[in-house]
Amino acid sequence: MLAAFLVSASTLVGVTLIEIPAHASNSDGRRGEDTTLDVIIAGGGIGGLCTALVLLKMGYNVQVYEKTSRFRPFGGPIQIASNAAESIRRIDQGVYERILEEATVIGNRMNGLKDGLSDEWFATFDLDSPARKRGQVSSVVIDRPILQEILLERVGHTVSKGAEVISCETVGERVRVQLSTGDTVEGDLLVGSDGINSRVRDVFDPSRSAPVWSGYTCVAGMAYVVPPDLKEVGYKVWVGSRKYFVSVDVGGGRIQWYAFMNIPPGSQEIDRENILGWLQTSQFAGWSADVKLLLDNSPTEEVEQRDLYDRAPTIQWSNGRICLLGDAAHPMMPNLGQGGGMAIEDALVLGQELTKVSGGNGQLRKLLPRALRNYNSNRVLRAAAVQGLSRVSSAFLFQYQPPLDIQWGFPPKFKNCGPRSLITRACQGFLQHVAFPLQFEFLFSFPGAINPEVFEDGMAGDFGTEQATQTRLNPHRSGPSQFGKPEKDLISGSTPLREWFNQYW
Ligand SMILES: Cc1cc2nc3c(=O)[nH]c(=O)nc-3n(C[C@H](O)[C@H](O)[C@H](O)COP(=O)(O)OP(=O)(O)OC[C@H]3O[C@@H](n4cnc5c(N)ncnc54)[C@H](O)[C@@H]3O)c2cc1C
Repeated sequence: MLAAFLVSASTLVGVTLIEIPAHASNSDGRRGEDTTLDVIIAGGGIGGLCTALVLLKMGYNVQVYEKTSRFRPFGGPIQIASNAAESIRRIDQGVYERILEEATVIGNRMNGLKDGLSDEWFATFDLDSPARKRGQVSSVVIDRPILQEILLERVGHTVSKGAEVISCETVGERVRVQLSTGDTVEGDLLVGSDGINSRVRDVFDPSRSAPVWSGYTCVAGMAYVVPPDLKEVGYKVWVGSRKYFVSVDVGGGRIQWYAFMNIPPGSQEIDRENILGWLQTSQFAGWSADVKLLLDNSPTEEVEQRDLYDRAPTIQWSNGRICLLGDAAHPMMPNLGQGGGMAIEDALVLGQELTKVSGGNGQLRKLLPRALRNYNSNRVLRAAAVQGLSRVSSAFLFQYQPPLDIQWGFPPKFKNCGPRSLITRACQGFLQHVAFPLQFEFLFSFPGAINPEVFEDGMAGDFGTEQATQTRLNPHRSGPSQFGKPEKDLISGSTPLREWFNQYW
């Protein structure tokens, strides 16, 4: 049954290979009809597991190869912003409901930036209205291991742990993948969701350019305490010069916090035993009493530190039968809490583009590269914009100085008079009234009405709907009979637009 994947017959060390679902393979070991695909996914993070879920639901044979033997995600709970939650709902209603059962809602409370020293609100943002007007749930936070568990309940049987993807190559119409276990596996499609240091990315960037240091190191911890404003405030960022401190209510009397500091990687030995004291006395001394409260109530053994890297946006994420997804394609700073969300969106769109070409007319494997190109072009601008926004917010936080303060009287009194304080004050109204509202309008605009042609009458991304299946099986989508005919038809108007899309798109 595993013939489709496993090329060498040796036993995988430390790898559990589970049977592929019965509907997805032929009893005689031949490759399946051209309505299904053998998919290899490198990396079992959020992106890889969501992609496995989407592609399993489409009836494909899926195998996920995960480098680690034991999942150990960095940074505790993760925000599932409204756009990401809605994408999950379109992928799988059951998974969506399980996530909401386990998550803590933060989007319906006050969220925003505070000055680290004065503890005064600098700007707030409304996460709830832009989500609600689109029928999306307010942003939530969930523990990463719980999220992982929910996804593994659905796709765990496809995951082989302790199997790192070392290299890959295209051989004819197949992709051949070398694993750290010594085995070689083959499939029709390889999805590289293997994170910021992706090996699959080598196909796109043979120079193996290293990710770029973002300017920050991050210390993450969990406080077991209930701050006085817990009922009113979900997410807070205290900002200071070249550092900021984030706190998020993650439920159960726990507050997840992150301290971001402009300390070059490796330039300072942070003493793990005294890390909390070091944060209090040398980094956040004199800051809001809430910051002290959180640090005082955090166990040292749960504190982690990591230097943060990202990459400039790249435009090519697909090459023949290989594509990148999630952080492998677009790593970003965590400021917007959207890195995982973008990976979930990628999975949805990849499924959507594959659905378009799986027309039951013997063309699926032939059209696969086109589907990946379309996935690439559908996602690249949005992901680049979110990468850019994450960087811009870092840059703003980097230059922050307590804002210029004028106490009117005679004579007026000025506090914080430097040029950066002036810029900070000038940015304040813009952030509150223009940048934040626009940012969340943009972020929550997805999935919107993606692909109305394929999912006509149905919700975009509902892979199981009758409409989606009908469209997929549409016998008229046979492609152009003559070179240039689609363009002529479109320009002359001889074919109605809907028919044109059905036939050629
Ligand atoms: C401090 C911090 C806070 C964050 N907060 C949020 C948030 O609130 N909301 C949000 O949406 N995002 C957040 N993010 C971003 C988010 O964590 C990532 O964007 C997301 O995890 C990316 O998922 P991924 O599956 O693409 O990659 P990863 O999570 O990196 O998963 C890649 C997987 O591939 C495996 N792997 C690596 N190489 C190989 C290989 N060669 N072969 C096989 N397997 C391999 C790894 O072991 C890993 O399991 C945060 C990030 C940080 C650092």
